[in-house]
Amino acid sequence: MIIKKDPGTTKSYFEDSSNIKGGHAGEVVIPENIKELSSFMTEADDQKTPVTISGGGTGTTGSRVPFGGKVLSLEKFNNVIDLSAGSMAAVVEAGVLVEDLKGAAERAGLFYTSHPTERTAFVGGTVATNASGSRSFKYGSTRKYVKRLRMVLANGRILEIKRGERMLTKSDPRLDLGGGIAIEIPLPSYVMPNVKNSAGYFAKEGMDPIDLFIGQEGTLSVITEIEMALAKKPAGIFSSFAFFKNESDSWAFSEEIRKASGRGQASADVISGALSVEYFDKNALEILREHSPDVPDGSEAAVFFEQEIAEGAEGPISEKWLDLILKHNGSLDDTWAAMNEERARRFTEFRHNIPETINDIVRKSGFQKLSTDIAVPPDNFSNMMRFYATTFKERPIRHVIFGHIGECHLHVNVLPGSSEELAKAKDVCLSFIRKGVSLGGTVSAEHGIGKTRHQYLELMYGRQGLIDMARIKKALDPNCILGLDNIFPRNILSSA
Ligand SMILES: Cc1cc2nc3c(=O)[nH]c(=O)nc-3n(C[C@H](O)[C@H](O)[C@H](O)COP(=O)(O)OP(=O)(O)OC[C@H]3O[C@@H](n4cnc5c(N)ncnc54)[C@H](O)[C@@H]3O)c2cc1C
Repeated sequence: MIIKKDPGTTKSYFEDSSNIKGGHAGEVVIPENIKELSSFMTEADDQKTPVTISGGGTGTTGSRVPFGGKVLSLEKFNNVIDLSAGSMAAVVEAGVLVEDLKGAAERAGLFYTSHPTERTAFVGGTVATNASGSRSFKYGSTRKYVKRLRMVLANGRILEIKRGERMLTKSDPRLDLGGGIAIEIPLPSYVMPNVKNSAGYFAKEGMDPIDLFIGQEGTLSVITEIEMALAKKPAGIFSSFAFFKNESDSWAFSEEIRKASGRGQASADVISGALSVEYFDKNALEILREHSPDVPDGSEAAVFFEQEIAEGAEGPISEKWLDLILKHNGSLDDTWAAMNEERARRFTEFRHNIPETINDIVRKSGFQKLSTDIAVPPDNFSNMMRFYATTFKERPIRHVIFGHIGECHLHVNVLPGSSEELAKAKDVCLSFIRKGVSLGGTVSAEHGIGKTRHQYLELMYGRQGLIDMARIKKALDPNCILGLDNIFPRNILSSA
């Protein structure tokens, strides 16, 4: 087991992309195998030492930033144990980089569906946050692909759960820990919104217990090994950026793709089968222009989309897309298309410049990242979009909106440049949260709650919802040592 104490080497473990300050811990512990990890947890539990689990540190909500205790890093759990085209699945340790899983899958003719755009995240981190990416439009979030988890509980016990083996119900909420021991999971009373969702613990009558540990943000267990289903690699992917002079045209274009893909009522004459449908507002285009001066002048918005294509089908497919773009007042001149993998990869990197540049702006400003991650039901999406537009008109402040418009899920980043603007930015974000919740949405569709969004989660589920989650935590981690202040503030634990 490696132990790091030197401030020069531990500092980087006390940060993530949220830019929250003040993270600190006595030491960073890096076990080299599950036996070491289990003994470390047993000792930490006996001594009631808080433990913050560290993945790749790309999270945006401060959830891996420790405030006391010890940091546990999974960086030595970095082996791809098995990956075969026959089983259409990979078995990986939790510290494997997303980039490495993606590469290994592709070499086997398979496809890692979750596709979070940040490649330096650990696979364990993506399970702990239920991450998703641009292609979740077709494939859904990480949760859907997790078949088995091996974990170490707070007291050092090793637990393995396979999806589908048993369910938790109100009449029988027992989770079997092995060796004849079972604990009762107090199933909560809140009801999750019917949208893409990564806010708080998964909860449903008749749920698979594995789902409790996906999106738990390091509060219930240490995930060490994951069996992840993979998909068949598409024969080809057609991808394109369509730029629009009017943002409402880009919204209508996206809505038509969404409906054609079976999300809502389909209209007869449009394309189905898109992998991703991503939106960029005018301010996001300004960022993209810094990376490519070719971004067409006068564009108010853009939509990036990808579609799986069979070999030789590029021509007819691209024609269909063009018809749709023209129908919504786009033009051939203002559309970029990628017919081969290399250009498609460049498009993906180009798109990735947006969150990276925003994170740079936030870092330089010295203020905490203020962004929302709201998804609302499709019928209420245009209402939400109008609310964003009206709010920024009435209360101008630097902002960038981009993200997964196909799933009615956008990232609104508000970028304050002074303390006065920070107060305004907080207020503006809160108004978006209230609106999103009132429209039946979630306060976090993919990034989780971490340490920066407790108030948002309380607005969504009420204080009782937070207490219900704290009860689940106490059932699995009675000494409350794992991931303190993630999802709900630690003081809720005494009310649970
Ligand atoms: C530029 C950029 C782009 C991004 N794009 C996307 C995107 O497209 N989609 C998306 O969903 N997110 C995105 N993110 C956010 C981030 O990449 C994801 O949340 C990712 O899943 C975090 O993984 P990580 O390994 O970096 O976790 P960390 O930041 O290290 O940790 C996140 C949380 O997971 C817990 N954790 C980590 N490992 C384990 C484990 N083994 N067991 C239990 N708990 C654990 C930590 O304690 C913490 O609570 C982006 C971030 C950046 C900076």
